[in-house]
Amino acid sequence: MRNLFFFLFAFILSSPLQAQRNCGTVQYLNDKKQQDPGIEARMQLMNKQIQQITSTKDGKTSRNVIRIPVVVHVVHKLQVQNISDAQIQSQIDVLNEDYRRLNADASLVPPPYAPLAGDTEIEFCLASRDPNGQATNGITRTLTTANTFSINDAVKRSSTGGKDAWPTNKYLNIWVCNLTNPLLGFATLPGTVNADLDGVVIAYKYFGRTGVVEAPYNRGRTATHEVGHWLNLLHIWGDDEGSADPCAGTDQVTDTPNQEDENFGCPTFPQESCGNDGDMSMNYMDYVNDACMYMFSNGQGDRMRATLENFRSGILTSSGCLPALAPSDCDTLNNITGGDGLVYYFMNEILPEESGYLTGNNSLGYRAFAEKYSSTEQQIINSLRFDFAVASSQSANSLATAVVWDASGPNGSPGVVLAENTFQLDDVIANVESFSFTDVYFPNPPTVEGDYYVGFVLSTTVGDTLTIYCNQIDKVNTNTAWCRTSQGDWLAFSDPESIGEAISLSVSPVQCIPVSINQVVANTVKVYPNPAESFVTVVGGSSSKYWQMFSVDGRMVDSGNSGHVQEFQISTASLPSGVYLLKLQESGATSVIRILVSHP
Ligand SMILES: [Zn+2]
Repeated sequence: MRNLFFFLFAFILSSPLQAQRNCGTVQYLNDKKQQDPGIEARMQLMNKQIQQITSTKDGKTSRNVIRIPVVVHVVHKLQVQNISDAQIQSQIDVLNEDYRRLNADASLVPPPYAPLAGDTEIEFCLASRDPNGQATNGITRTLTTANTFSINDAVKRSSTGGKDAWPTNKYLNIWVCNLTNPLLGFATLPGTVNADLDGVVIAYKYFGRTGVVEAPYNRGRTATHEVGHWLNLLHIWGDDEGSADPCAGTDQVTDTPNQEDENFGCPTFPQESCGNDGDMSMNYMDYVNDACMYMFSNGQGDRMRATLENFRSGILTSSGCLPALAPSDCDTLNNITGGDGLVYYFMNEILPEESGYLTGNNSLGYRAFAEKYSSTEQQIINSLRFDFAVASSQSANSLATAVVWDASGPNGSPGVVLAENTFQLDDVIANVESFSFTDVYFPNPPTVEGDYYVGFVLSTTVGDTLTIYCNQIDKVNTNTAWCRTSQGDWLAFSDPESIGEAISLSVSPVQCIPVSINQVVANTVKVYPNPAESFVTVVGGSSSKYWQMFSVDGRMVDSGNSGHVQEFQISTASLPSGVYLLKLQESGATSVIRILVSHP
């Protein structure tokens, strides 16, 4: 009778607009399981492994705070759905408070469960570095024609009116959009979807705690709950709806009490079920209102951290929370690569003997010059290095443009512009006077593979002159230098219509890595095996070492501290095959060692 009365009372209080919390994660998971019957077995195996990890490890010792870079994709049709930066930041603030147990309502946890409430030591940042190493505010905004999104993947793909994910092994992707009522959000559990679909979806009205948020889900707890799923937490009642024994389900966490069903609204503690001392309804993984959930348990924290360290470990080495690479962070590594052409391409072998120069905007009317390169693998070009011979400018604003083209033009000539940036002729004049190169950086570095061209487009202003050193390589006709006539046609210099001789231009594509990498290469440290498969061993040196592993495009992919040992190992098992730079810092010495990681 009491139950019936409570039910009626609750029903009367709930207006149709104030729907009960509705998380779509389980339905989304069940849909995926229908398409991929292997999911269930993989989840069971993962649960077993996490149980082993968390039971053999004291979760309280030697825990570093894990920071998760977040990118928020705002997908909107109406202006109201295009939520403010402030609303987004408020959600990041809530996540950081809730996951670090710094939430103002943490003290409301009832005494029996207060000792179980934990600091997960997981933090979040809005990404400051995008997948290309460039500066970002961690927010993308996409105008869509879709009125609403639902429990499927439409919002996660540009081709279906949404926005493509950033690399999901390096960023937590959160899509914010208009979801069909009464859905608040849904998430992907680890290992249950293809990588490009991994992440969290939240309705714009329930994201953050300022702006256009609506009660009773106006305190940012929907994202706290859904990110919990993304970190492998299950609903606290064990999702056992429909099973014969309503207490059979488990959330795979030992310190959360067994619980029969979800709780809605704002229940008074204790609501007992399954023989517990009261449901832990104030847990973020129940279904209560935002104002009535305020804790993760220690066991939930252990499960999330074990998941991050073992099944989402790419996050641990993500550079998404680091400042963007700036041009001043770049160096050309000419001491390290030894002319193998991987990182640094300067053609010093053609200078200075037999060098000459070409005059820009001259009587021949050339409009642009390009030098052909080829790469057998994908490479990012951060800048171009020119060796200009002479320059003059008509005004202080005189500009030329550095360009990277693909080779899709007629006869393999320069085609589509992949990147461009202007530079000032006055800067070139100063560089020429001091015998310096002119470096031009690209705000959005292009990725090249196969044939491509680098070069520059001239100013057509009378009085602006730009010439670049070149070299005649008559004996080896590589046809690498091209020019564009005033009619817009590209000609190889070897073409009789042009100069009729094979020539190379002194312009080089440059990849950059953070400054200070290009340091003394200490020969007291040895690293083997190289090429490496799953690990390298570092031997030698005098003291403990701080080490960082960089990819060739300058992103730090891993780092650590050796401690006071003469020999230690660094895992390369999770690194994709390719070339890396291992930077070792110890007192008074810095070493940089090239490592080839090669997985069979
Ligand atoms: Zn949920």
